[in-house]
Amino acid sequence: MTIASDNAEFDKNARRDVHTLTRKELGELLSSLGQPAFRAKQIEEWVWSKNARSFDDMTNLPKALREQLADRLTISAVEEPARQSSADGSRKYLLRLSDGVTVECVGMPSKNRLAVCASTQAGCAMGCAFCATGGAGLTRSLTDVEIYEQVMHVRDDFGERVTSVVLMGQGEPFMNYDATLAALRRLNSPDGAGIGARHLTVSTCGVIPQIMRFANEPEQFTLAVSLHSAVQRTRNALMPGVRKYSLVNLYDAMGTYVSKTGRRPTYEYALIGGVNDTDAELQALCDFCEGTLAHVNLIQLNEVEGSKLRPSTPARAEDFVRALGRVGVEATVRLSRGADIDAACGQLKQRLAKGRSAK
Ligand code: SAH
Ligand code: SF4
Repeated sequence: MTIASDNAEFDKNARRDVHTLTRKELGELLSSLGQPAFRAKQIEEWVWSKNARSFDDMTNLPKALREQLADRLTISAVEEPARQSSADGSRKYLLRLSDGVTVECVGMPSKNRLAVCASTQAGCAMGCAFCATGGAGLTRSLTDVEIYEQVMHVRDDFGERVTSVVLMGQGEPFMNYDATLAALRRLNSPDGAGIGARHLTVSTCGVIPQIMRFANEPEQFTLAVSLHSAVQRTRNALMPGVRKYSLVNLYDAMGTYVSKTGRRPTYEYALIGGVNDTDAELQALCDFCEGTLAHVNLIQLNEVEGSKLRPSTPARAEDFVRALGRVGVEATVRLSRGADIDAACGQLKQRLAKGRSAK
């Protein structure tokens, strides 16, 4: 075991974050300190469900034990250097991780609900033409704990239960598969955030091998795939990072996903005037979806600084809804939340909102 557990010498700089200990490791540490086994459960509850920021918060532990833990372990906690609040009640947070890297996440409240949009990477390597995150490239992938902590940060700030999470912030979840899955499991677990699997959604730009892997996971997590065009040439131009995962193969992979899981995936489609909203594009989209189990989420493109791409008209979005409906595919136009604070989809990018912090 790499935790300093003897009472003599321990190197404070080598302390491990309590979040990274397995239950067995925590149990071993506690028994080396002469503590009863039930302390492990108490500590885990503080760490995961209560999102404690320090060992001192753990008020049902003896003070001496709290000090012993603080000597031997750290407890990571995100910092919030800036935030912005939207007129619609959404809040965007800029969170700083232990190594100084920053990511953004958003809390979106509505009647009796609190949805959180969290990031899985700082930046993104996929380079989609319409996405502010893609423009800056990838800084690094986040750990499962860093993904989880964003959600808990929002929960604590609103002081409300989180009812759903979408991994639609910065980054491509399926380029960080293991951490994403571990975070989803912790969010789902009754010993974690206790959010139902169906209310946990992963959005991928279409990394086919990982879609196949996801299809084999036992939980009922929800899958969204960013389609944005069912015409290969257009999709290549808009989403260069997934050029090698062709639409033909994506179609087959999604067929397998549906037959394995019985679950209905969502296709995300950001309408871009003159690019993917033409009649030919609409026809291709209808052909891609017709006869499959799918829901299409039409989003008006959020304009991104420095990009020439513009959203379609609302009337055009309605044409898409009607045409998809005629071939038996349910489609909705998603309202963008937090557009006034650049928190809407594709607008999350690392930027210290200096002077705009509402705190
Ligand atoms: N990398 C993943 C998840 C993060 S992006 C993915 O691409 O699916 C979350 C969603 O926002 C995706 O559907 C993405 O295509 C969409 N998006 C990105 N930029 C956008 C923009 N400018 N306007 C509208 N939607 C955008
Ligand atoms: Fe990455 Fe998703 Fe943005 Fe594409 S849309 S660059 S995959 S975050």
